[in-house]
Amino acid sequence: MLCGLFLYLTSAINMYLFKTVQDYSNFLQHLDGDAASIGFVPTMGALHDGHLSLIEASREQNALTLCSIFVNPTQFNESTDLKKYPRTPAQDIEMLAAAGCDIIFMPSADEIYPPGVDLDSPIPPKGLVANMEGQFRPGHFEGVVQVVKRLLGIVQPARLYMGQKDYQQAAIIGWMLQSFELPVELVVCPIMREEDGLAMSSRNVRLDPDIRSRATLLYQTLSAVKERLNQESLEDLQAWAIANLSQKDFRPEYFDIVDGVSLQPLQDITPTDFVVACTAVWAGEVRLIDNMILQQNS
Ligand code: AMP
Repeated sequence: MLCGLFLYLTSAINMYLFKTVQDYSNFLQHLDGDAASIGFVPTMGALHDGHLSLIEASREQNALTLCSIFVNPTQFNESTDLKKYPRTPAQDIEMLAAAGCDIIFMPSADEIYPPGVDLDSPIPPKGLVANMEGQFRPGHFEGVVQVVKRLLGIVQPARLYMGQKDYQQAAIIGWMLQSFELPVELVVCPIMREEDGLAMSSRNVRLDPDIRSRATLLYQTLSAVKERLNQESLEDLQAWAIANLSQKDFRPEYFDIVDGVSLQPLQDITPTDFVVACTAVWAGEVRLIDNMILQQNS
């Protein structure tokens, strides 16, 4: 008997929705073979087609797909950003049902961080957090690692699906899985983009329409750098990118060309290097991030 289990029913769709750790754990205990293959897609909601591409990838590889929706307070370094983060739970549930997701986990903050309980939280190595998002959002990755470790302990998936969109995040979670020898395979899925190249993001709805119409600037800059990779020094390319991104209403925080594994800035490249360009740009009052693999070693 499954206690406290919510069953979400639309015309022909069965989808489980759990709000507590206890209810999900009860469910997990009653699964037989399927438990060996749960694909897990952690999100903060306000879902778009980028998130749904992770659901699709998980459905192809796993018996069950679980999507969590949790706006994690510990990864927001600015309280106004947390307050303004879009929340569309009813629409998210509809989208997940239509996408064939099997289970939604939508916990409260108290479920994830039970009051009075000290959760051990791994500290990511300095090399991975010192630059880019880690530099401009102090404490962000400590919060990300904390919540993903906690969620993995609850969900117990075989595979974890994350987007290349958050390149540094995926690299840090890869480090965490390896260093704690967690038996979970990380699958990093490609960036889904709007027709004009803007990377899909929950934050895009907050863009002023005029700024939105010019926000393809990030993709265009990354693409131009990729094209010019072997024609100019990395220093010149970086300087050009920063200048190109510095247009009316746009203010770049960083444009870094880094090694795809160590995330360390590269000075020069050889043909076998794994090279990724990552950028964060304020577009009006909205902070956008994007990246592009410029060269991948085989
Ligand atoms: P978020 O809800 O923003 O925390 O994102 C949840 C997951 O979706 C993360 O692994 C993101 O990298 C991924 N994601 C966000 N945007 C995209 C996108 N445009 N394409 C692919 N994956 C994405």
